[in-house]
Amino acid sequence: MGQVSGKVAIVTGAASGIGRASALVLAREGAAVVATDIDRDGLASLEREIRDGGGKVLTLEHDVVDEDRWIAVVADAEQTFCGLHILVNNAGIGIAGPVWEMTLADWRRQNAINLDGVFLGTKHAIPAMRRAGSGSIIIISSVAGLKGAPGLAGYCATKGGVRLFAKAVAGECARAGDRIRVNSIHPGVIETAIWNKVSSGADSLAGAGQVGAVVANRIDPAILAQAIVPGGVLGQPTDIANAVLFLASDAAAYVSGAELAVDHAQSAI
Ligand code: NDP
Repeated sequence: MGQVSGKVAIVTGAASGIGRASALVLAREGAAVVATDIDRDGLASLEREIRDGGGKVLTLEHDVVDEDRWIAVVADAEQTFCGLHILVNNAGIGIAGPVWEMTLADWRRQNAINLDGVFLGTKHAIPAMRRAGSGSIIIISSVAGLKGAPGLAGYCATKGGVRLFAKAVAGECARAGDRIRVNSIHPGVIETAIWNKVSSGADSLAGAGQVGAVVANRIDPAILAQAIVPGGVLGQPTDIANAVLFLASDAAAYVSGAELAVDHAQSAI
């Protein structure tokens, strides 16, 4: 029996990187997975892989800033798989550059996805989890939600914001006695496509320019990890997915309001 057998999970940003790995691991461990993203092609390939492995999956196009869509996605999860027990608030973007160069439009776009998206998902998942009798909400924050990263001030604001949001909602749910747990995960430098998308201001990102990690205006996460992670080890999406699995499972039944750094000691020293 899998570690999350019989549970139903929504994973946002599931077409790529950490979200994709989390969807695969949860499906392998027996959850029915509702995988959502704005990237339809990426979802189609994920769907094939989960089905080929014998897992249960429903893929839905979903922009996490759209509240009506959130309501529909939660309803689809409940109708298709008869409940909702796990939400992985994973979808996120990173916009780099010194704060004095950041436009208000970029600041707001990043807030909308990284912060509003997490609020909306959490708000609309809780009533469904209460109907199911229990739940686990997992928020993918960042090391940049634990300490400041020069060149990522706006990103830090969103990732620090969701860190305390998780703790406050954990307290609300614990006091309500609804058996819903809320935790945040803080990945270090993980090898995903996000680094190809952090283009503007890449030079300034956490010293990436100084350590030679900027190649053709893109950040090479392996070079960055060499420079800023103790031991120089680059993380893989599965490293984060395994932490998601733990927090989603009943092994974490007494874990709520916690922040789990999965960063090879990057934030510890
Ligand atoms: P990826 O870019 O590989 O995957 C993110 C996925 O989210 C993409 O498929 C992306 O689609 C999708 N997405 C973007 N905007 C939206 C939206 N508005 N609604 C729904 N889906 C959307 O990134 P990662 O896997 O690296 O990142 C996942 C999470 O982990 C993010 O919250 C990130 O901040 C966090 N994180 C990542 C770290 C790393 O080193 N990789 C380190 C610390 C935290 P599209 O490609 O079309 O934009």
